[in-house]
Amino acid sequence: MSVWTATVLTLFPEMFPGPLGHSLAGRALAAGHWNFSAIDIREFATDAHRTVDDAPFGGGPGMVMKPDPLFESVEHVRKSAALDETAPVVLLTPQGRRFNQRIAEEFSELADIVLICGRYEGVDERVGQHLATDEISIGDYVLGGGELAAMVVIDAVARLVPGVVGSAESPANDSHTTGLLQHPLYTRPPDFRGMDVPEVLLSGHHAEIARWQRREALRRTLERHEAEAQRARDAMAEAKATSSGTRCSMSSVS
Ligand code: SAM
Repeated sequence: MSVWTATVLTLFPEMFPGPLGHSLAGRALAAGHWNFSAIDIREFATDAHRTVDDAPFGGGPGMVMKPDPLFESVEHVRKSAALDETAPVVLLTPQGRRFNQRIAEEFSELADIVLICGRYEGVDERVGQHLATDEISIGDYVLGGGELAAMVVIDAVARLVPGVVGSAESPANDSHTTGLLQHPLYTRPPDFRGMDVPEVLLSGHHAEIARWQRREALRRTLERHEAEAQRARDAMAEAKATSSGTRCSMSSVS
């Protein structure tokens, strides 16, 4: 039976598997619960100098990744017998839809995934429009390249693949899976430098413990979402203040 397989197209294949080769994901990879390959985009460059980037049309800073090596490398991967033909081709870009647990679940249900890592100023627009089937961002900040983003996506998806995480640490209890953040966790010692573990967790009373965990998960979720909501309200108030300031200064000009 074929296992979930991630194929990464990158200019730096030596960066992989990196952290994915360690701990749970690494052990599961070695045990064959999921599969991985990193393909060097430069091998699909068509000229003698193996050029993968060029200056942007219209001018501007930096270099742009050329479309031809990327199309060639995806076509090569698609032709490989092991790859499911419905596998999504995901371009990693800070302009994509924001990665989250729902998308990780969606990807884990597919047999395979192909991830394209950009570098430099980014990739030729035709890759996003005509080659990639999805564009994913891991957050609203700009990394130097797509490799770390690919690792984040693969790590989050691989732990949902059956056999990767043991049942004792079931991902079903994780934050974002149930819609709630997870309750606080404690381990030995019960008293560490005067910092105590909540009594109830030491009581051995399973029903009480479950109630406490549920209450704490709800409290934590409400608190942290309230903090996000407050940030959005502050940003909105600031934007309104700025735009009314602009209107005032424009009316004083006219
Ligand atoms: N100039 C581009 C822009 O403003 O959208 C950013 C290019 S970035 C320096 C180079 C590459 O890093 C991108 O093509 C993408 O593959 C990757 N990258 C950077 N930030 C990312 C993010 N937040 N999520 C996913 N990939 C990212």
